[in-house]
Amino acid sequence: MSRPRALVWFRTDLRLSDNPALSAAARAHEVVPVFIYSPEEEGDAAPGAASRFWLHASLAKLTAALASRGLRLILRAGPALAALERLVAETGAQAVFWNRRYEPEIVARDTRVKDALTRRGLTAESHNGALLFEPWEVQTSAGKPYAVFSPFWRACLAKGVPPLPAPAPSFLSGPETWPQSLPLDAFGLQPTPDWASPFLRMFEPGEDGAHARLQRFLQGGLGHYAEGRDRPDLEGVSRLSPHLHFGELSPRAAFHAARQAGEAGAVAAPNAVKFTSELGWREFAHHLLFHFPATVHEPLNPAFTRFPWAEDERALGAWQKGKTGYPLVDAGMRELWQTGFMHNRVRMVVASFLVKHLLLPWQRGAAWFWDTLLDADLANNTLGWQWVAGCGADAAPFFRIFNPVMQADKFDPRGAYIRRFVPELAKLPDKWLARPWQAEPHVLRSAGVTLGTSYPHPLVDHAFARERALAAFAELKSSAPSPARP
Ligand code: FAD
Repeated sequence: MSRPRALVWFRTDLRLSDNPALSAAARAHEVVPVFIYSPEEEGDAAPGAASRFWLHASLAKLTAALASRGLRLILRAGPALAALERLVAETGAQAVFWNRRYEPEIVARDTRVKDALTRRGLTAESHNGALLFEPWEVQTSAGKPYAVFSPFWRACLAKGVPPLPAPAPSFLSGPETWPQSLPLDAFGLQPTPDWASPFLRMFEPGEDGAHARLQRFLQGGLGHYAEGRDRPDLEGVSRLSPHLHFGELSPRAAFHAARQAGEAGAVAAPNAVKFTSELGWREFAHHLLFHFPATVHEPLNPAFTRFPWAEDERALGAWQKGKTGYPLVDAGMRELWQTGFMHNRVRMVVASFLVKHLLLPWQRGAAWFWDTLLDADLANNTLGWQWVAGCGADAAPFFRIFNPVMQADKFDPRGAYIRRFVPELAKLPDKWLARPWQAEPHVLRSAGVTLGTSYPHPLVDHAFARERALAAFAELKSSAPSPARP
């Protein structure tokens, strides 16, 4: 007797292994895998330009992986509900399985989809494929969501070790005749002209690329992660973020791989603990986004809605192009533009520069990151920007202002990172690399640097900018302070 049929709706879970929706469907059904491109109903979670490029490559890989198991990935355009209903009618499917997402518009859309499918008498089953802990599973003793990371992560870990990742289903079967699929190119995800292919020098989208990246990290960066993670000039981080965002690697797989490396003594335990706690920040970001969905646009601390932000398109443009005159900031912004990625330490420095040195709203920076990051993730990006701006959960206080010169001295001590992305300064001696405006004219001359011509003067003086930011913060505090919400 043939098995009943189910749709497996792939979203940001573009993998076969440790995919709970796929495994659940495969247990008793013939599987019809489907991906629906529907940016118009995804609101703030609709992918930016760099993410669309990744999505295209990842869908191509998933198509091939499913084909090797005898299945076809059916591509359809949204709206999602209409596309699913049509496919149900075409295939006779009795059930739809998917893994949950947590972005506000997607939660609302998925709720509508589940209701509608259930009303039609279909099984509509959602699973957790994206997080170690569901946002509603952990709460404070007062029954509230957490707003401070350490107790949040302690509470998560107190629930027990997350389940081990499951292998890909050992048995997968599909229908004999397949419904029509759009060609992948119909989604128009790849940019013209092609500015994104160079990103593939560093990244390999898809499940195999994710696992290869994880293995490389386990054998390299993880061994010195606790210290190396702050050094943009070294290979100290995993660069797993786009793979995790698109679900090519499950957080359970990353968590357990690091944990086992620590327990087996392959790496010193503090390195594994630090790495898994960074996965904890990812969990925290999703917890916050789920419980405080308005924070995508509004500060979690409502006092900051009155912050006297500036408007300065010229300064914003200089920041976006990596022409602020601060070499570490410029290196970071150019790394982003050239590679689709930016090291976390440098993300903090460039974000701080935008909101504190230039007094530009964090939302403008978040929007630029959204379009240019391969790992653009609504939860992590919102948390990151609000953390830097001092208005989010467990945020760095606004009055702590990064000095981009000292950050370079500390975290790029030989200047390898700056030299790579700001080559016009490469010949400067280490001592002046992060502060070219302080170098003697003959030093600049012999390095071939002409400030104002080959490299910009600083957009703003650090000491002046610091005082101005502190004054703006003092103004905010003196004008009827209101307590943080949670
Ligand atoms: P690793 O250090 O190897 O960490 C492993 C994984 O842990 C990461 O892949 C990521 O999933 C998670 N993680 C690490 N640090 C954080 C963090 N601070 N917050 C949340 N999760 C974390 N991360 C994104 O994935 N997407 C974004 O859009 C994003 N925007 C950011 C914006 C700003 C202003 C800041 C300061 C940080 C942002 N981050 C974002 C967090 C962090 O910078 C990246 O996750 C990290 O740099 C990715 O590199 P990695 O994979 O090598 O990290």
